[in-house]
Amino acid sequence: MLEDTPTPFPQHILLTPGPTPIHPRAQRALLREMLGHMDPEVFALNREIQADLREMYGTAPETFTALLAGTGSLGMEAGFANLVEPGDEVLVCVNGSFGARMAEMAARYGARVRQVTAPLGEAINPADVAAQLGRASLVAVVHGETSTGVLNPLPEIADVVRQSGALLTVDAVTTAGMEPFQMQAWGIDYVYTGAQKCLSAPPGLAPVAISDRALARHAARRTPTPLWYCDFGGLRDYWVDQSYHHTVPVNLHYAFHAALRAALEEGLSARQARVQNVSQAILAALAPLGFTPYVTDRAARLPTVLALRLPAGFDDAAIRGALRAREISVTGGLGPTAGLIWRLGLMGEAARPAPYRALMTALEDLLGERGLVSRFDEALNAVPA
Ligand SMILES: *Cc1c(COP(=O)(O)O)cnc(C)c1O
Repeated sequence: MLEDTPTPFPQHILLTPGPTPIHPRAQRALLREMLGHMDPEVFALNREIQADLREMYGTAPETFTALLAGTGSLGMEAGFANLVEPGDEVLVCVNGSFGARMAEMAARYGARVRQVTAPLGEAINPADVAAQLGRASLVAVVHGETSTGVLNPLPEIADVVRQSGALLTVDAVTTAGMEPFQMQAWGIDYVYTGAQKCLSAPPGLAPVAISDRALARHAARRTPTPLWYCDFGGLRDYWVDQSYHHTVPVNLHYAFHAALRAALEEGLSARQARVQNVSQAILAALAPLGFTPYVTDRAARLPTVLALRLPAGFDDAAIRGALRAREISVTGGLGPTAGLIWRLGLMGEAARPAPYRALMTALEDLLGERGLVSRFDEALNAVPA
């Protein structure tokens, strides 16, 4: 059977699509003594973080990586702030609320935004991207759309974009650190995630990687980056030249460093395997109750956010409320899928048997159903190690 989380599981169980339970090593790192953001120990730690991020994102050897002092949305915003100038044509792939957020941000930085869309629960078609490229100077896509549990075909989309010469910005919030990600091989120019998703670090940091092409685009701007705080030049002042730009949250750096190291030591294939393992055990346990995958095309299912259509007559609000009273947080749908689906998080430390066994135990009790826990355990055991 898959090994459970290495330390006693915290009392409150987060099964949400972020934040995820903090990794025990990250939790311990938060207790380290305070140091200054300009201290040599912190610069040494930062260099390790930068190297580990290159590995996580699969970058070229010297690619610039850094942590932004904010959540995943700051990573998103920093890309548009630095790479868009008023009047630029930007093509945004929109098949859920995070794609829509990208379109909104690009517009606020003056872009003429066009959208490639797909129906909710379906992936973006790379052929649609090719057909709409036009004179776009930047294309933006969400790799894993958390709002619907859809995985967009990023390598194929990147291929199309690269042939056009446009830059490509990717939201890897639900994928990097858990699912394959190859910035260099796929030809991606700007990528970000949030510390509290696949890495199970505390929220408040957005790890980014920026290609040389993107840095050159930034250097050639006609006007300064309107977001001073995340100007690529200012980031390099601190992360490369070790000069003061703003005070980085040192304690969060400690925790992030520990969480990223733990992820790299565990290895990507082991992480992917436990996502698959727990995911199919959840399905085996819940399918007899009438839960079905919301995303019908298997290839378009995002492994790290399991979107399940609820059985007919299922009282979503009441059940999630009762679970919350038992210290178990489960997330429902967003906007048009509210009341229709659950979105079970399988990122970072959430993708373990213990927290989901706790959900099955609680559901057996709340629904008066037997067999959820035993079906869950059987499915876990059925998978060869
Ligand atoms: C969570 C999430 C974000 C936003 O991250 P915050 O940390 O909430 O700002 C962006 N994109 C995707 C795909 C997400 O799941």
